[in-house]
Amino acid sequence: MSLLDRLKAQIAQDGPISVPEFFTRCLHDPRDGYYATRPDLGVGGDFITAPLVSQMFGELIGLWAIETWSRMGRPAPFRLVEMGPGDGTLMSDLLRAARLEPAFLGAAEVWLVEVSEPLRAKQAERLGDGPRWVGRLDEVPGGAPMILVANELLDCLPARQFVRTESGWAERVIGLGEDGELAFGLRSLGKSANAEVTPVPSPSPIEGEGRIDIGSIWESSPAQAALASDIAHRLAIDGGAALLVDYGRAAPEPGDTLQAVQNHRKVDPLKTAGLADLTVWADFPAVIAAAREAGAKAGPVLSQAEFLLALGIEARAQTLSAARPERADQIARQLDRLVGKAQMGALFKVACLCAPDLSPPLFEDAT
Ligand code: SAH
Repeated sequence: MSLLDRLKAQIAQDGPISVPEFFTRCLHDPRDGYYATRPDLGVGGDFITAPLVSQMFGELIGLWAIETWSRMGRPAPFRLVEMGPGDGTLMSDLLRAARLEPAFLGAAEVWLVEVSEPLRAKQAERLGDGPRWVGRLDEVPGGAPMILVANELLDCLPARQFVRTESGWAERVIGLGEDGELAFGLRSLGKSANAEVTPVPSPSPIEGEGRIDIGSIWESSPAQAALASDIAHRLAIDGGAALLVDYGRAAPEPGDTLQAVQNHRKVDPLKTAGLADLTVWADFPAVIAAAREAGAKAGPVLSQAEFLLALGIEARAQTLSAARPERADQIARQLDRLVGKAQMGALFKVACLCAPDLSPPLFEDAT
C-alpha cells in the first residue's frame, strides 16, 4: 500500500493530521518517505543545491570556517559538523579548500548528522571513512568547540500553518475531500491545552499595517526553532559557530511556502506523498530569536550574494577560469546562479549563530 493510501486510511479512521505530521511522514516514513527511500539530488535528480551548482560554494564556506577557527584561538581538537550533508559535496569541497591550512585539518574531527540511509551511503562514497555519522546533533559529543555548517537543512524541518479566518486564526490540517483524496482543511485553535503558546503572530506590527488579510497563511516552525536552540545551547557551552544557509524569509511575513518538487518541477504535495522533496521556507527571525534565547549570539541575516561576494567568490571564479579557460563560460554561469539576484543570490540567506565571546568573519556585529 502506498504512503498516500496509508495516509488516507489513517485520516479516514483517526481524522485530519497537522501539516508537520504530514510533512514528516512524507520525508521520513521508514517504508516510503522521500529521504528514507529515494532522495535524488543533482541535475539528473529532483532538485539542485548550491554545492552542486559549483565547487566554489563549499570552498568559500571552507575559507569562512578556517577564519572562524583562527578567531576561536585555533582549538585542537574541534568538531567540524555538517547537518544534512546531502551527497557530501559541500564537505568534500570544504575539506579540499582547507588544505591551505593543515593545522585546521589536523584539528578537525568531522561529524555528519544525517537521517537518510541512502544519503549516508553517498556521503561515505565521496568522503571515505574519515567522518563519523550520527542521526541527531545531540549524539555529537560535547566537551570541544564546534564549527557547524548546514545548507538547506532548515527547509526540511516542518512548519505549522495558520490561516486567518473571519473569526481569528485556525490551523491548516490535511483531511479527506468529498472525492476521498487528501485535501487541506481547517481546525479551530479553540481553547486547546497549549492555546497560549500557539505561535500565531501577535496582532502588531504586521496587522497594524493591514498586511494580514482573511485567508492569508502564517507559518511557524517549532522544529526549526528547536534546532536553533539546540545548536545555540551547544555553542554557548562549548564555544564555536554555526552557519545556516537556506532559502527563506529574513523578516516576519505571511505566506504559504509549502512546496513539493520532483524532477525539478513543482508538484502537488497532496498527490505526491513520499515521491517528492517537500520544503518550507527557513524562518530566520524565529531561528535567531531561539538561538539568542538559548544563550548564543546570532545574526544578522545576509543574502547568499552578500555572503559569497564578501568572501571573494568573484576572485575565485577568475582563478578557476584562468586555470581552465575552456570552462570560463560555464564558471560565469555558475557564479551568476549562486549570486544573481534573480537566482539564488537574494532568496537564499545566511545566518550565523555563535558563542557569546566570538566574532566570526562577516558576522562581527552579531548580538
Ligand atoms: N546540504 C546538502 C543537502 C540538502 S538536502 C546540499 O546542500 O546539497 C537536505 C539534507 O538534510 C539531506 O541530507 C537530508 O537527508 C537531510 N535531512 C533531512 N531532514 C533531516 C533531519 N531531520 N535531521 C538531519 N538531516 C536531515
